Amino acid sequence: MLKRTLGDYTQGRRGPLLICTVGLHGNEWAGVHALTLLLEILQDELVTNPQFKFYGKLVVIAGNLPALNVKQRFVNCDLNRIWNQRNFDNPGNEVEFGEMINTKEAVDALILEWGGDNIYLLDLHTTTAEGGIFLLPTSESESIAVAQTMHAPIITGLVEKLNGTMIKHYAERKDASITGLVFEAGQHDDPLSVNRTIAATINCMRTIGCVVPEDIENRFDQLLIDYSKDLPAMARFLYGHFIAPDDEFVMNPGYRNFDPIRKGEILAHDRYGPIRSKYDGLILMPLYQTKGEDGFFLIEEI
Ligand SMILES: [Zn+2]
Repeated sequence: MLKRTLGDYTQGRRGPLLICTVGLHGNEWAGVHALTLLLEILQDELVTNPQFKFYGKLVVIAGNLPALNVKQRFVNCDLNRIWNQRNFDNPGNEVEFGEMINTKEAVDALILEWGGDNIYLLDLHTTTAEGGIFLLPTSESESIAVAQTMHAPIITGLVEKLNGTMIKHYAERKDASITGLVFEAGQHDDPLSVNRTIAATINCMRTIGCVVPEDIENRFDQLLIDYSKDLPAMARFLYGHFIAPDDEFVMNPGYRNFDPIRKGEILAHDRYGPIRSKYDGLILMPLYQTKGEDGFFLIEEI
């Protein structure tokens, strides 16, 4: 059984607090593997590089432990869609409400201990579809600025459209200054999603000042640059198709992240018939798993 706090790393120097969250969705193990490896890499670094300096602190928090245990997106409901005051005050009985309270307590304790300033929250995910990595910044300028150094496509405006995400809750907190960012590392079971998660986290640590560039190998940049080279550098949210459990939603097969879509193209079916695209654009996160409330998203390159 995984623990809520997977581990942490510090050398006691002043710097930012970087909280990485993994496994908010239980079928997304790449983030768990990646950050477990990264903590080991950091522990070993001083052996090969005695000059290695780390500023601030990295803490890794795991999200939906019961869902991770059974490798499913969630047990009763999506842990990353229920973060709002109503649910904090009056949580339901479903497994995920307990997971939300426990995850929130762990993260809130870190924020309080740190004093509320110079805090970054990097939420790590993977997708059911193949074909792309991307960053979802919040609307805050610091979030976009960090994203722009990380060598992956940036999708603006999408975080604002999703209700009840953890990242939105922390970005909007008034009692602390927290920069939030989501990274999607590729397909759930692609072994390279682990490498890309490590690379993105290391790039983030460099940008926010946990590590100095001289201590970082170029291969971490190169891995993400190579994977992103045919993808748009930046795109914005156009449309989200949100579904209810009784919609009988079925995505048409074969779509990959960032595939071009024509207006009028049939993308999926549900009990009301075919679902046609209302726009020309690119598709993002087409749903190829039984659990989930987001059918697909459309974006356009900027
Ligand atoms: Zn996810």
